Amino acid sequence: MSGPHDGRIAVVTGAGRGIGQEYAAALASDGATVVIADVDDRLAAETVQLITDKGGKAVARHVDVAAKESTAELGDWVRREFGAAHILVNNAAIYHSMRMDAQMDVDIDYWRKVFSVNLDGALLMTQALAPLMIEAGWGRIVNQTSTGAYAGLGGAYSVSKLALIGLSQGFARELGKHGITVNTIAPGLIHTEATMVTVSAEARAAMLAQQAVKKEGQPADLVAALRFFCSDEAGWVSGQVTIVDGFKTLRL
Ligand code: NAD
Repeated sequence: MSGPHDGRIAVVTGAGRGIGQEYAAALASDGATVVIADVDDRLAAETVQLITDKGGKAVARHVDVAAKESTAELGDWVRREFGAAHILVNNAAIYHSMRMDAQMDVDIDYWRKVFSVNLDGALLMTQALAPLMIEAGWGRIVNQTSTGAYAGLGGAYSVSKLALIGLSQGFARELGKHGITVNTIAPGLIHTEATMVTVSAEARAAMLAQQAVKKEGQPADLVAALRFFCSDEAGWVSGQVTIVDGFKTLRL
């Protein structure tokens, strides 16, 4: 497989299944060698198989994005193995089976767990890999938020995804001088295994009814936004959020 990312190293967190898997496959088909960084080794191995079966380059690496020793170890391993990193997609999150407890009732340990993965995970992974991009003088970081961040819903998931936008903008400001852009994709409801378990059929139908584009979103519907943010041509696009939701969410 060959394309704009020939010779580049990409790391995609939570790439064992769902949207992360789709992102990893797209970057591999564009020529990158992709590190499938997931806490679930079995899922990560499945994604590697899927990519290599199609002639792409991928390798699985265990990581818990919420644990600094684990993200630092991953950064060290990428340096030893490849000597470079060019693309980082912070996609891992607690989304599957998430709890939707009201803020008045939410258990603080659960709240902190969600933030440790959904927000701190992107912080730690960026701290671990951006130094390699700084050395390369080129980098693309894409963080995965959600339209749930805009709904004023509150709750651990939604608030962590809103905070992730602030984190992205902070890194965009800090890293721009090194040729590194940091952008965010906000998907609407996407048909993944996690969505089928987490969102009721009723709620899914209600969201579909609100969309201008009357089609259930699939992981593949997000790939155009990822490719744009990772492209050489988008080097002056940073600190942005792109909503990809069939036009349901309004944001001025
Ligand atoms: P998913 O739950 O199926 O995938 C998440 C992946 O992250 C899994 O492979 C899981 O093993 C991994 N992961 C979880 N905790 C981790 C950790 N601590 N360290 C490393 N890996 C970890 O979810 P999905 O539906 O594919 O969604 C992927 C991303 O997109 C998430 O950030 C989610 O919040 C976001 N999102 C999803 C939707 C949707 O409708 N599916 C909508 C908006 C945003």
